[in-house]
Amino acid sequence: MTNDRERVAIVTGASKGIGAAIAKRLARDGIAVVVNYASSREAADAVVAEIEAGGGKAVAVQADIGSPNGVADLFDAAEKNFGGADILVNNAGIMKLAPLAEMDDAAFEQQVTINMTGTFRGIREAGRRLRDGGRIINFSSSVVGVYGPNYGAYAASKAAVEAMTHVASKELGKRGITVNAVAPGPVETDMFMTGKSDELVQRIVGTIPLGRLGQPEEIASVVSFLASPEGGWVNGQVLRANGGMI
Ligand code: NAP
Repeated sequence: MTNDRERVAIVTGASKGIGAAIAKRLARDGIAVVVNYASSREAADAVVAEIEAGGGKAVAVQADIGSPNGVADLFDAAEKNFGGADILVNNAGIMKLAPLAEMDDAAFEQQVTINMTGTFRGIREAGRRLRDGGRIINFSSSVVGVYGPNYGAYAASKAAVEAMTHVASKELGKRGITVNAVAPGPVETDMFMTGKSDELVQRIVGTIPLGRLGQPEEIASVVSFLASPEGGWVNGQVLRANGGMI
């Protein structure tokens, strides 16, 4: 990874939650950022405005990561706006909880399409279009390992992400591209909080040795390290940032 040229990152699902924190953090690190969103245009524009107010560079780009051309469109935008891409953060994801015996096909397939197929297409596009010395940072979850009830389809889609991370790290190493995954524990975002009672949240917090939920910025700092030159010897790893819950 060269130090003399501005680096460029694509962050999928960066309109809110962990992705928004990653986009802001990478911009603070001096990286130009493609801020992807699916439907939350105003939120994505606000992320870009905050980055620009801090002296950074960013552009908001709509793309559905579950669609065949979603990630390719983001690479087009990176090339058009910033001249190329060095870092892909495959952060966009959805979670639908139900016991496997009650999970319907549509909910199962939606999670596979966005979490697993979206990450596959991201790795494929990055393998073709990231500049040498680049970084791919995928998003798993600490539910891979915990395997609690209701998380069957979601955990399956994220276990596939971990498998592809290991394989891609061996395929792309020759171009100096590292491929790692971050597997957060419970982080205080819409995805985690929606539909949970205070009592359930407290029960989950009770399983975390540090006794609190994670914050999006604490995941963004892990991504920042993996994206940085200092993280250059870390390859093919799944980094579990979860307060020690597993
Ligand atoms: P979140 O608050 O629900 O935000 C999800 C983001 O993904 C939004 O910006 C959303 O954009 C975007 N998105 C959803 N579907 C998309 C699609 N088809 N195409 C493009 N963008 C899409 O989620 P989060 O908690 O920040 O989670 C981020 C990642 O961390 C996910 O991969 C998740 O599985 C993983 N994770 C989260 C936790 C946690 O506790 N929060 C734990 C482990 C792993 P729009 O608003 O525009 O739809």
